[in-house]
Amino acid sequence: MKINPDEIFDSTSFNIDRDPHIQLNEEICRRCPQRACTNCCPARCYNWDEEAQKMTFVHDGCLECGTCYVVCGQDAFTRWRYPRGGFGVAYRMT
Ligand code: SF4
Repeated sequence: MKINPDEIFDSTSFNIDRDPHIQLNEEICRRCPQRACTNCCPARCYNWDEEAQKMTFVHDGCLECGTCYVVCGQDAFTRWRYPRGGFGVAYRMT
């Protein structure tokens, strides 16, 4: 079965926690040779700015899939946890 992330977004809502559940060491991201997160995150939370040599991460639309945690080969996270209770994504798949 092929999953279309856009369809998932149609069935989700978010209660955004202003305290990000994922945080990065930007210096590690700057030196990373792959930056797999920019291609693998289904919510497109990661964006690499080549000109500024800077990684931007926005946690608001995070689907909590864990992909970035798995694909990051640099241990770039200073925090990776699920959002606090009551915050984060809510799936409505029925
Ligand atoms: Fe993107 Fe999934 Fe990581 Fe959230 S947990 S930032 S959706 S890859």
